[in-house]
Amino acid sequence: MSEFLSHDDTHEHVHSDSSHNNLDHGLNHGHSHDHRHVNAKVLMWCLIATFSFSIVEGIAGWWINSIALQSDAVHMMTDAAGLLIAFVANHIAKRPDNTTLTFGYGKAEALGALINCMFTGFLTLWLLFEVVGRFFDPEVVDGGVLFIVAGLGLLINGAIVFILSRNANSLNIKAAMIHAMGDVLGSVVAIVAGAIIYYTHWSVVDPILSLIVIVLLLVSNYKLIKQSVIVLMSGVPEHLDYEQIGHDLKSVHGIVDVHDLHIWYISANQSALAAHVVACNLDSWPSLLAECQRILLEKYGISHVTLQTEFDDAKCRAAGCCD
Ligand SMILES: [Zn+2]
Ligand SMILES: [Zn+2]
Ligand SMILES: [Zn+2]
Ligand SMILES: [Zn+2]
Ligand SMILES: [Zn+2]
Repeated sequence: MSEFLSHDDTHEHVHSDSSHNNLDHGLNHGHSHDHRHVNAKVLMWCLIATFSFSIVEGIAGWWINSIALQSDAVHMMTDAAGLLIAFVANHIAKRPDNTTLTFGYGKAEALGALINCMFTGFLTLWLLFEVVGRFFDPEVVDGGVLFIVAGLGLLINGAIVFILSRNANSLNIKAAMIHAMGDVLGSVVAIVAGAIIYYTHWSVVDPILSLIVIVLLLVSNYKLIKQSVIVLMSGVPEHLDYEQIGHDLKSVHGIVDVHDLHIWYISANQSALAAHVVACNLDSWPSLLAECQRILLEKYGISHVTLQTEFDDAKCRAAGCCD
């Protein structure tokens, strides 16, 4: 451990405090709260169920020529991969900072998500290619099997929603639950499609359903890519208002200007801020610094703050703040 990695004492405390509310709450093994273990176990079971069902869907889809089932197999596989990445990244993120990675491993999840998005993107394009072909050259699909497999999917997705709703005490569990509720809806649509094909033999329903799955996959993939890139490119966190934060710092009495303001992600749920602050005089700086830190922590939850002070008598006189 290098001496230069150390934080201020108070600052260190703030860091560990804020980790109580963060997204990876449910996956932290090294903590004494029992529900964390429950959450990790619950998510692991959801992962296994999702992955197993994606295999069943893939095989059934290939067997009855259903491109819709194959598309949903890709979707469920992507869901399982997302859960797995969250697991692995949370373990990696607990490694201590070092002299090469001074911000630690907090961005590992964003990196994993981006790689997952790349694979999903390729698979989705391949599906799109296949689906377009199906419209020109339709294949006979067994609606009965589609109905049964979709029904199985409804049971599994429904069970996942039920289990998660009883354990929804952290943000990542809630996010997983909301996603699974969308998947339940998808299963219902697939059941209806299976019934329509069974009774009417309109096999074109199958590629239409597949197109819906593909569009949803593309939309969620785009959102995930955007979020990951903002984290990895040190962009301003989406929940923070850059202009408002600069304005709040500048409106502290005794501060006449704020510039070179940077706000960025350290990890998926922790932000850092650095700025140049022009103060009226040297004597007031300790109290100004404390006030800035208080605003940033209490109003915006930013605990990793670095402020460089500059003094400008002319600006102070022009602003008339110390008359
Ligand atoms: Zn899903
Ligand atoms: Zn700068
Ligand atoms: Zn400056
Ligand atoms: Zn720090
Ligand atoms: Zn002044």
